[in-house]
Amino acid sequence: MLSALALLGAACGGGSSAPTATASPTATPELTLEQRYKRDIEAAASVKPPPVTGIDALQPEVREAVMRQPWAQDGFDDREKLLMDFLIEAAENFVGVRMDWPYVTRLEKDRLVQTPFDAAREVRIVESGVYDFVKLQKGTVVVVFSSDNPLTRQEVEPLLTAVRYYLPRMEQFLGHEYRTNYLHIQLAFGDLPDISLERGSNVFLGWEGKLDRALEFVFVHEMSHSYLPLLPWDARPWLREGMADLIAGALTGERVTGYTQSASYKPIVTASDQFSPSSFSRQYFEESGNGSLFLLEMLDLIGYDAMSKVVAGIHQDSQSRTRRMTDILDLMRKNAPPGKAADVDALIDKWTKGTGLVKPTPTPKPR
Ligand SMILES: [Zn+2]
Repeated sequence: MLSALALLGAACGGGSSAPTATASPTATPELTLEQRYKRDIEAAASVKPPPVTGIDALQPEVREAVMRQPWAQDGFDDREKLLMDFLIEAAENFVGVRMDWPYVTRLEKDRLVQTPFDAAREVRIVESGVYDFVKLQKGTVVVVFSSDNPLTRQEVEPLLTAVRYYLPRMEQFLGHEYRTNYLHIQLAFGDLPDISLERGSNVFLGWEGKLDRALEFVFVHEMSHSYLPLLPWDARPWLREGMADLIAGALTGERVTGYTQSASYKPIVTASDQFSPSSFSRQYFEESGNGSLFLLEMLDLIGYDAMSKVVAGIHQDSQSRTRRMTDILDLMRKNAPPGKAADVDALIDKWTKGTGLVKPTPTPKPR
């Protein structure tokens, strides 16, 4: 980005002095584009102030709020520095630049818009103490709650307890380290539609003031989406959403989910080159539900430990991901416990070929 801008600047620089049609005799000899580029880069570097870091990089009101805290009086330890890094990057994260950085999600005319944190939001976080730290395999994660509404520490405590309980177990089940040092949980109060979503280190959760069993499942589902970038490049909704339901199901014991209730009981698409339905469409929910049912049934067939190996295998840390979504089928066969091979094959055939796949008739509701 920088080089493109600099090049543009150099090119325009010549154009803006165009009115001087005849070159002045004292003008410096024409520079080549490369020489101008180098000159402009050097000039830019010489006037640029040294980067501001730590407490000085916070917005002024936020800095003042931090300095009023008891914990700021004896200098800053690593955790306190991590919280400040979070606040600095949250304020600098302009529209989707860095998905692993914190940002605010807003609904504007049925569109989800991402914006950086403003100072008022950050001051509220600091003053109400709605943050904490969780130690994971690689390091410490700062968990920060934010909302357009006021939040109290007491109110978010059950969610913090859930993060402390589930995040290390998620890491263990997945067999891969949590990807970032941040977890931002944005709580949306009742006036917003009933949605939950996740991107990078951001979880957006509809919040009605208490954590019940259903919301706990949704919460774990959303947190597990932070591993999405480690899934195969061709992963379709059945694997992306099915995986999040599987992880949440394995950790909470839940088996009936929003997605499983939307399932169309059609075989999952295993070809990489087929049209993938767009998020929030009916087809997206149907396909995701089929994936959830498939993966949860496999969990119950082969058990937690074997499924953990399947899950660890289909996620890849490497930048050059070589796996394809269908590799999960081979991983299921490979990790089938003794005596279960035929059952695993039958379950794979059911959900990939439709062999014996029938939609259960709904039990009539008592009147
Ligand atoms: Zn999801």
